Amino acid sequence: MATVFTHEFNTPVYKGKTSFNTGLYINGKFVEGSDKTTIDVTNPATGKVITKIAEATAKDVDIAVAAAHKAFETTWGLNAGGAERSRLLLKLALLMEEHQQELAAIEALDNGKTFTWAMDLDTTFAIDTIRYYAGWADKIHGQVQETDEKKLSYTRHEPIGVVGQIIPWNFPLLMMSWKLGPALATGNCVVLKPSEFTPLTAIRMCELIDRAGFPPGTVNLVTGYGNTVGAAISSHMKIDKVAFTGSTLVGRKIMEAAAKSNLKDITLELGGKSPNIIFNDADLEQAVNWAAHGIYWNHGQACSAGSRIFVQSGIYDEFLEKFTEKSRSLKVGDPFDVDSYQGPQVSKNQYDRIMDYIQSGKDQGATVHLGGDRNGTEGYYINPTIFTNTTPDMKIVQEEIFGPVGVVIKFEDEDDVIRQANDTVFGLAAAVFSQNINRALNTAHRLKAGTAWVNCVNQLHANVPFGGFKQSGIGRELGEYALHNYTAVKSVQVNLGHVM
Ligand code: NDP
Repeated sequence: MATVFTHEFNTPVYKGKTSFNTGLYINGKFVEGSDKTTIDVTNPATGKVITKIAEATAKDVDIAVAAAHKAFETTWGLNAGGAERSRLLLKLALLMEEHQQELAAIEALDNGKTFTWAMDLDTTFAIDTIRYYAGWADKIHGQVQETDEKKLSYTRHEPIGVVGQIIPWNFPLLMMSWKLGPALATGNCVVLKPSEFTPLTAIRMCELIDRAGFPPGTVNLVTGYGNTVGAAISSHMKIDKVAFTGSTLVGRKIMEAAAKSNLKDITLELGGKSPNIIFNDADLEQAVNWAAHGIYWNHGQACSAGSRIFVQSGIYDEFLEKFTEKSRSLKVGDPFDVDSYQGPQVSKNQYDRIMDYIQSGKDQGATVHLGGDRNGTEGYYINPTIFTNTTPDMKIVQEEIFGPVGVVIKFEDEDDVIRQANDTVFGLAAAVFSQNINRALNTAHRLKAGTAWVNCVNQLHANVPFGGFKQSGIGRELGEYALHNYTAVKSVQVNLGHVM
């Protein structure tokens, strides 16, 4: 029998109790892993263990895949009409809304993001996403093709089948909703693996999925490690598609495993090193505020983080002074303190990784203009950090740090900054600040990135596609575009009297 996790939140921003099963969720039941082993889940604010959860193995993936196939053939897939899929997704959105504060509190405890952000962004956006895809579920249309009068030709957009979904730790609930929404709306069954660092909201969500009434086997949760469970999903012969969000390194492994197994369909949402370009004619105060949001939001643990801040020479000194002031003003502290803007990094691994990058910046000759050090003595807090005097070849300019660390780089003109901004293997997002509409849009169009923000950063909506150029990924999430990731097009040709 899987065990139950109970936690009483008695914080300034939220008081309440949560209690849920810590098992795998397979075929509509919470169960132990086949090996009966567990994984410790840690609170990044203290470094202490919160609870243990069941650890899945490749054998559990097989069991989950079998359950998903059974559901696909009997109760879901082509057996559940669009209106029914929509009804269940809407019910799930309502249940999430009913438990929004609890979900936000679990996320803050497990991931370290502030309760305020988890309320205002993660949970709100996750609910919006599920509701948005509920709206699509009964509007999945094919087309009719004109051929000749003796033939009827049309297409059907059918569900792909059983899909594997592997999600990261930076936006656990939100990434789950981005993945589940389009997959379920289009009739697929899911085997999902959250990050072992942040599995708690995913487990709680499975209870809500159960209560909403999704047939057993429609959604299955296998909590486990990437190199066992993640690898088993990406190489599984009976998983028809895998959708992944995480590092480019692991994305590459998933693509390779997909190619070597059954050539399963893939979508990858990977890393970034996004440029944030601020021209002399920008609204300086707004540019400073947005630049801070661009790099420090979610403690810098965002694939779209505006981590390379390019500032035109005419305003460079003034920008740097104001940006430094703004960075200093952001309170780093307890995720449940209403004044905190930035909580701890998600894990000791990530803390060490970021500190190594900071050290490499120093070793390669960049200047630590602000921060670069630990905040406090407990947990994995890092102060907002600004590097200046960088060169294009430095690791801190080229690689994804995934922490509250930005580089501020001076540029002279449009051609110069576009060349520098595009000098990266990534292409997820970019931002431009200018009050000259021609300059802003011309620059946005010349940047090689899947998203270009003009006079804002890190803006995401359920109906706006998101994904990367170059090594930042394959396919688009969100919006109508994400539905294409989860449907296979079938052409049907009917003979209306053509005699052979
Ligand atoms: P990973 O890419 O390793 O983790 C993302 C997910 O992939 C997790 O669920 C992980 O499992 C899983 N995974 C790991 N190895 C495999 C594998 N061989 N096959 C299938 N799945 C696997 O990111 P990390 O947590 O290691 O973070 C490292 C860096 O990745 C960060 O510093 C950041 O630069 C980048 N990153 C980018 C994200 C994005 O949104 N683009 C999100 C997260 C990280 P588990 O961890 O449970 O073992």
